[in-house]
Amino acid sequence: MSLLVIGTVAFDAIETPFGKTDKIVGGAATFIGLSASYFTHDINLVSVVGDDFPSDAIEMMKNRGINTEGLQIKQGEKTFFWSGKYHNDMNSRDTLETQLNVLATFDPTIPEKYQDCEFLMLGNLAPSVQHQVLDRLKNRPKLVVLDTMNFWMDIALPELTSLLKRVDVLTINDEEARQLSGEYSLVKASQKILAMGPKYLIIKKGEHGALLFNKDQVFFAPALPLEDVFDPTGAGDSFAGGFIGYIASTKDISFDNLKRAVIFGSAMASFSVEKFGTERIQNLNSKEVDARVKQFIDLVQFDISLV
Ligand code: AMP
Repeated sequence: MSLLVIGTVAFDAIETPFGKTDKIVGGAATFIGLSASYFTHDINLVSVVGDDFPSDAIEMMKNRGINTEGLQIKQGEKTFFWSGKYHNDMNSRDTLETQLNVLATFDPTIPEKYQDCEFLMLGNLAPSVQHQVLDRLKNRPKLVVLDTMNFWMDIALPELTSLLKRVDVLTINDEEARQLSGEYSLVKASQKILAMGPKYLIIKKGEHGALLFNKDQVFFAPALPLEDVFDPTGAGDSFAGGFIGYIASTKDISFDNLKRAVIFGSAMASFSVEKFGTERIQNLNSKEVDARVKQFIDLVQFDISLV
């Protein structure tokens, strides 16, 4: 019983007020897998890269316990490339370039070994590919989590809307929740989005934390106040990895456990933004993760006696 992760494995070029990178390893599935690897060791990856993708990056994922049998390497083709620029307000970014490359014709293959997966994380990718992965699993996993972004809302809304009916949890940011629902109020947006299919909705609000909704309840997790946010790229995916990794390790999909998972996700996102790309979440240990979660507990714990 395991966690299946799909999403991009990519090259990113990032510009923030702290500096600029050339092509570095990134991608939704990369961040998700690395982040989840601090909670569970049974992680199976499905994605695609070109023959320009460095083998040491694949080794690095393997060394963190990620099974890369489902990572296709396309000879003579180029890896998905994304570049983005952040301004002083790190909560919003401009996408400078998206080159789909190998992603344009990606046909996901699910190795037989992956078929018994209990938890599925559909990381950011074309909704049609996310559909295909669900179609190709013999049994529906116990929990299906979907992450997507405005890019796909702009170019593949019908596929995305039908996908929402097939998933349990949707994670998007506040701007995307507003775009998808047409509502400015996030409470109204959550009601509309939950009516589209998912049982749970997580709205990520960058440095302002994250909200977890179901039909009748809402939970808020803060973001850790950090002195410097170095590079927000991958924060959402690191959040998703911590969230689903914790759920896969506990196998508990109650609302109370989803709340805990949101805290673990927030802790992983807070690490991710401290360095460029995946550098920080590649090199953590479980003591650091526990200490970070304790900071979250301390941040929000207070006693009030009401008469
Ligand atoms: P996040 O900052 O969590 O939203 O994720 C950033 C990662 O998403 C980067 O490493 C990119 O390679 C990847 N990414 C950017 N645009 C897309 C897209 N349209 N589809 C899939 N992955 C993307």
